[in-house]
Amino acid sequence: MHAGYDPPGAAQPPHDLPDALALPLASGAPHWYWLGGRPALDFVNTRRERWRRDVETLVTPRDLVTWLRAAGLLTAPDVCAGARELAAAIALREAIDAAVAAAVAGAPIPPAALAAIDGWLHETAPRPHLAIGPDGAPQLAERAGEDPLRAAIGVVALDAARALGEPAERARLRICAGVRCSARFYDRSRPATRRWCSMRTCGNAAKARRHRVRASTSVPSPLPEVRT
Ligand SMILES: [Zn+2]
Repeated sequence: MHAGYDPPGAAQPPHDLPDALALPLASGAPHWYWLGGRPALDFVNTRRERWRRDVETLVTPRDLVTWLRAAGLLTAPDVCAGARELAAAIALREAIDAAVAAAVAGAPIPPAALAAIDGWLHETAPRPHLAIGPDGAPQLAERAGEDPLRAAIGVVALDAARALGEPAERARLRICAGVRCSARFYDRSRPATRRWCSMRTCGNAAKARRHRVRASTSVPSPLPEVRT
């Protein structure tokens, strides 16, 4: 699923959340970011600054529908969600995160998290349907999804299941090393050595910090440095 995953509605906001932020947010939509590299991780990243301000960006049921559309997982028109669907989706998100955090730490995946993800997978299965076609002959088709919202959430769960259930995929799950960032991401780099969700943001900030530390601790040289 992640191959070619390019969320159509993915406008990248500034990487860091503004310092002045009235919490809880009225809607999280302006603060979604799309650096996870696969839908399950972008979904986990809708809860931002997990170890700092802990900002929930799936605030309303409408946020959930809008996020699934922005991620390209929901195309059916006129889909409504309620408080129950939002709570269920958030429970799935936290299960995925618990599993991802365990995988990143090399710890066993909590069985409850696994069961919660597994509980959504059947929502994505195609349902065959045998009916009489327009020419009067039986026709094997696919039953239309009865609940496009649950099917879309199921796709998030399936992506998480793929990321967790394949050893090579699991080994590429990461949590950004940026001090202000808690983004989860999928390391697609060939040597699988990426540490930051984005080199442009967290990677550069870390480089600048290392430079500042070096500059403040180095003893000034008595002779001008000769560059060759
Ligand atoms: Zn980051």
